[in-house]
Amino acid sequence: MAGLVVEDIRKGFGATPVLKGVSLRVEPGEFVAVLGPSGCGKSTLMRIVAGIETPDAGRVTIKGRDVTRAHPGARDVAMVFQSYALYPHLTVAENIAVPLTMRRLSALQRAPFIGGLFSGDRRRAIQADVERVAGPLGLTPLLGRRPGQLSGGQRQRVALARATVREPHVFLLDEPLSNLDAALRVATRREIVEVHRRVGAATLYVTHDQAEALTMADRIAVMQGGELLQLAPPAEIYDNPADIRVAGFIGSPR
Ligand code: ADP
Ligand code: MG
Repeated sequence: MAGLVVEDIRKGFGATPVLKGVSLRVEPGEFVAVLGPSGCGKSTLMRIVAGIETPDAGRVTIKGRDVTRAHPGARDVAMVFQSYALYPHLTVAENIAVPLTMRRLSALQRAPFIGGLFSGDRRRAIQADVERVAGPLGLTPLLGRRPGQLSGGQRQRVALARATVREPHVFLLDEPLSNLDAALRVATRREIVEVHRRVGAATLYVTHDQAEALTMADRIAVMQGGELLQLAPPAEIYDNPADIRVAGFIGSPR
């Protein structure tokens, strides 16, 4: 049973239920967009799949293994955040290489770590992996720069490269385009789908933008108020919304 399986996940903060029993399945190579208004629980769901948050009930299975209580590093999951979360003192190459190292961040702070902490075959292997993901994203000329010397779009591509350098089984993206201006947002959609295809991961992509979901996803999971209302291909969501709440959010004529 490969891919990602989420079963009846429940989560509350204090007395407020935020996820009220969410179930979904993402196959390897499939791109599922989680679409819903702000505050409906999308990020909480992603954080539970990533292992940053623990659910009150339910199960997360990756590659057939129950990882509900597993450490984030032991799940074969990578996540791209809205803020990108790059290390400002590391170069682009070093930022991309972070998941390849088992070093503590305190050791990585003595930059440059690829040259300073690794040598010989290990260093060459890390550099080859970095170049492999940097090339298709157009980052090769920028490998020696630091995040402060990059545009927003370039930073976002560094975050994509870092998240996929270990070829995760499950790839999570939480509103990765929301910090870009409108023109760049549209241009970057295809880039993200291409990264997803190269990795072949089971991808879960959170957005509140229905145009993104309709153009990028194999299937769309429509969420509202902590519930999953419908999970279907874009055309089916658009033509046959499961109920009036889905229709209202997708903006179809019915
Ligand atoms: P979305 O990503 O869809 O905008 P979130 O998952 O971030 O929604 O949040 C869903 C709800 O849960 C919101 O009302 C938010 O305020 C609340 N929430 C999220 N995280 C916490 C937390 N750590 N403590 C308390 N409330 C939280
Ligand atoms: Mg969110």
